[in-house]
Amino acid sequence: MNPLGVHALVWVGDWSEQSARFAIESTREVGFDLIELALLDPAATDVAMTRRLLADNGLGATASLGLDLDADVSSEDPAVVARGRDRLAAALEVVHGVGGTHLCGVLYSALTKYPQPASALSRQNSAQAMAWLAEQCAAAGVTLALEVVNRYETNIANTAAEMLTFIDQSGTDIAVHLDSYHMNIEENGLVEPVEQCGSRLGYVHIGESHRGYLGTGNVDFGSLFGAVRACGYAGPVTFESFSSAVVHPSLSNALAVWRNLWQDSRDLAAHAHAFMKERLES
Ligand code: MN
Repeated sequence: MNPLGVHALVWVGDWSEQSARFAIESTREVGFDLIELALLDPAATDVAMTRRLLADNGLGATASLGLDLDADVSSEDPAVVARGRDRLAAALEVVHGVGGTHLCGVLYSALTKYPQPASALSRQNSAQAMAWLAEQCAAAGVTLALEVVNRYETNIANTAAEMLTFIDQSGTDIAVHLDSYHMNIEENGLVEPVEQCGSRLGYVHIGESHRGYLGTGNVDFGSLFGAVRACGYAGPVTFESFSSAVVHPSLSNALAVWRNLWQDSRDLAAHAHAFMKERLES
């Protein structure tokens, strides 16, 4: 079965040693195989401490982030693009340093509502940055996957088909990262996007339509998990959920996490683990 993971924001909004210990121990206790680190500020992550806690708990790691407008590789301003590349290089250094396997998320633009469509120059700058990042990741032995997110969070690619076209533009074989929450907003259904990716699917986020408890919203998880199993995907499947009960200084606002969808992280995570395991095994 696929390695199962949980996003760090289910547990904590920061990465002090106390928070990291709580998040990593809780992830292991619930039965997950890996934790997905939130690397929006890679410099704030203590690599040695994280690596030690992961090893002590026998837990794997992946990492995700979204860029911001000050470090946006899809900017038309070369100085902003350069800051974006520096941010991505720093994130990869952390993933590699902690022994992580995957770098994913919105790495190709800022995670924000853009006020206009992406220009040809924006797409070109982003595609070139992704080709550069793909080389760095390959050298580090880290799998790179670009997350398809909804129209309020990027203007580069909102569907699997658009992301595949964008990756082709980069001239690489970078993998696609699909997320049921975003698919539920933008795609015609949940089967076709998985089939379109096929062997190019490289990471999966499982989130409900309101990003709370799995099975309590609109996402057709039967179709999604059926498609993921049918395409032979063997990579990580990670639970992503956000509530105002756990707040990250920048990510929570970027994702518009205004509502309290849950209070009890452990109950939420244990429910998600059982939910995903049952559907991936059946
Ligand atoms: Mn996601």
